[in-house]
Amino acid sequence: MAKIKAVRGMYDILPDQAPIWQFVEQQVRHLFSQYGYREIRTPIIEKTELFCRSIGTGTDVVEKEMYTFSCRKGGHLTLRPEATAACVRAVEEHGLAFNQVQRLWYNGPMFRYERPQKGRQRQFHQFGAEVYGIDSPDIDAELILMTARLWRKLGIEQVLQLQLNTLGSASARTAYRAELVAFLKANMSALDTDSQRRLATNPLRILDSKDTATQALLDHAPVFLDYLDKESISHFARLKQILDDAEIRYQVNPRLVRGLDYYCKTVFEWTTDDLGAQGTVCGGGRYDGLIAQLGGRPTPGIGWAMGVERLILLLKSMQAVPADIFNPLDVYLINLGSVAALVAQKLAESLRDQLPDLRLQLHCGGGDFKSQLKKADRSGAKVALLLGEDELVQEQIQVKPLRGQGKQQNIAFVELATHLQQILCP
Ligand code: ATP
Ligand code: MG
Repeated sequence: MAKIKAVRGMYDILPDQAPIWQFVEQQVRHLFSQYGYREIRTPIIEKTELFCRSIGTGTDVVEKEMYTFSCRKGGHLTLRPEATAACVRAVEEHGLAFNQVQRLWYNGPMFRYERPQKGRQRQFHQFGAEVYGIDSPDIDAELILMTARLWRKLGIEQVLQLQLNTLGSASARTAYRAELVAFLKANMSALDTDSQRRLATNPLRILDSKDTATQALLDHAPVFLDYLDKESISHFARLKQILDDAEIRYQVNPRLVRGLDYYCKTVFEWTTDDLGAQGTVCGGGRYDGLIAQLGGRPTPGIGWAMGVERLILLLKSMQAVPADIFNPLDVYLINLGSVAALVAQKLAESLRDQLPDLRLQLHCGGGDFKSQLKKADRSGAKVALLLGEDELVQEQIQVKPLRGQGKQQNIAFVELATHLQQILCP
């Protein structure tokens, strides 16, 4: 019978890769704690309507990328394609944004039905930050500074560029959209087919079309800057001032619009040339209208999300993954014969009591000395402990360094913990 394989575009993270994930997760969690952000966990499934009403029906995500199914009792549910809408739903449902500021973060799988390729999967993972209740640009800056700090921490700051834009107020966007649509309709034949379709559904998205002919046409299109409202202009100016002051380099990209409907004012992306077509590692922006749009009291919101798979691809291509994260063991305990196996089991437990940070694996399943030593070597442990009949009689254990340094020694059971501590954490 044919074996069952994983769903296309969805991948297992195997034990040899898991340390990289744990490393990244640890670094990002630490980053959030440095800034006083608190974690929120929401369900992976939400009512379909939540995404339609927030992300927008004319967007790629809602139009063709959602995993939607009907619920047994009726109604439609969707595997979350992103987490901002779910965060807003949860914060509103529990009254967390009522007269208070929330700085939140999340981490977890997202689902989008896209064509799988490098850096693009159908189940992928995001870390994200969301802030509710602050409308001033200092928080826009904080969210960007935070990501810049992460790149420095991970040693990849030199390959990531910050792109920045402002989308202005809703009324500025409406006015601009009308002018843009009129211009593009008059030049319909010069547009790529995707953009022609978007003209009716999501015309602003045409601005970041990858098609060269469309881009050439856009050089003559009305410029959004001319339609921007005063308040958005000064908000953007202050954000740039803070970033300049912090020596964060950025490029203002007037064509950066981001895919989702709910953004206003600040939008940004961190991109790299090192990952091919899927070069956006992190993107975010302000969504001041979203909470009210979902039925809540008007409350400003802003956030970003980063793709963990792309971040890991970048770390690997930069060789910025620390080598020592892959070694899961300090000690491998070899034991010969059934009496030694009993004593070894107890010794292992006692060492774990005495040295809680020690990573010790007990050899299980018997076998002769040679085969056990081979396994000890392959385990990556720094030290093998050998317990045979002679050692049992003398209440000693042989300590054998496996990675070159130090010589083999016999150590009394009672001194073993102290000795291991000395040789493993000198
Ligand atoms: P893209 O430009 O790649 O389509 P997006 O604008 O759809 O990205 P967002 O919704 O802003 O992406 O999600 C934030 C981040 O999540 C992206 O910058 C990317 O790193 C990651 N991401 C999005 N979609 C995928 C996917 N299908 N597979 C892997 N990572 C993804
Ligand atoms: Mg996308």
